[in-house]
Amino acid sequence: MYERALAGRTVGAGLPYQLTQSRSNIMNDSINYISVKGYDEPDHFMVWLEREKPRWGALFPEIASGFDLKKINPGGTFLPRIIVGMYLDDAYKECLRKIDNGGKPLFKFQLIEKDVSDVRKEAGKDMLIFADGTQAHSHFTVLATGNVENINYKELAGTPGYFAYHYRHEDAIRDYIADYKKPEIKALILGTRLAGVDGTVLLNDFIKANPSIKSYKLTMTSREGVIPMVRVPPKPGSTGNLKHINTNNINAAI
Ligand SMILES: Cc1cc2nc3c(=O)[nH]c(=O)nc-3n(C[C@H](O)[C@H](O)[C@H](O)COP(=O)(O)OP(=O)(O)OC[C@H]3O[C@@H](n4cnc5c(N)ncnc54)[C@H](O)[C@@H]3O)c2cc1C
Repeated sequence: MYERALAGRTVGAGLPYQLTQSRSNIMNDSINYISVKGYDEPDHFMVWLEREKPRWGALFPEIASGFDLKKINPGGTFLPRIIVGMYLDDAYKECLRKIDNGGKPLFKFQLIEKDVSDVRKEAGKDMLIFADGTQAHSHFTVLATGNVENINYKELAGTPGYFAYHYRHEDAIRDYIADYKKPEIKALILGTRLAGVDGTVLLNDFIKANPSIKSYKLTMTSREGVIPMVRVPPKPGSTGNLKHINTNNINAAI
């Protein structure tokens, strides 16, 4: 498995759930909608939450203090993504333990910190080319590169007050706003989905921490202006009867 330089990031948590990200980033999935085991063990995350409460509760005491799975509505509970990152990291470590199989590895697994800059076919094999100029061969390649940094608007790179991707630049944004001396600030967030909401909440937190800013305006914009979906599993037996977009009406329309 090849992964870009980790620089303090955790492999298991992936990009969206890094433990170093802002505490204000929350899931858009309710806690009973999250499970690395899918439908086989739909409660897997909730069982983990109960068991690991001392660990995640140390980071989020304000959430842990009122957290009782018997009393809360899991379909209405949305936790910080950092907590899901801890869960995913545990799942990753569990996978490593299973592969190790008590010292008799099931197969050879290696995590290599390299940035893959190209993949080419060569003599029936894939040739991986790394950013440091080195190469490796593989019989086949799985691209699982996830969400990658925005490469549009390169001409704006380095412009003060422009940040291409807030997830990897939270410190720079915090410093920029902390040093802001004028009483008014206006910010534009391009994108209205998860990353847009995260960025807006992040800016809100940073701006409020600067007493010289007396008024501010945050504007989110996107092509369609659609905000993220909130995902909650339906309660058993409570799936709604669709009045308009149902099979009959769809068939009648096509
Ligand atoms: C802000 C945000 C919030 C999200 N919130 C939710 C949510 O609430 N619920 C939900 O279900 N999904 C959410 N998602 C979707 C999320 O992307 C997936 O759930 C999941 O994390 C994707 O995992 P992944 O392994 O595909 O990608 P990632 O977790 O992004 O992992 C890809 C990895 O590949 C590495 N990589 C990329 N390019 C290279 C390269 N050239 N060489 C070497 N390594 C490389 C990256 O460094 C990264 O670690 C969110 C996504 C984002 C961005």
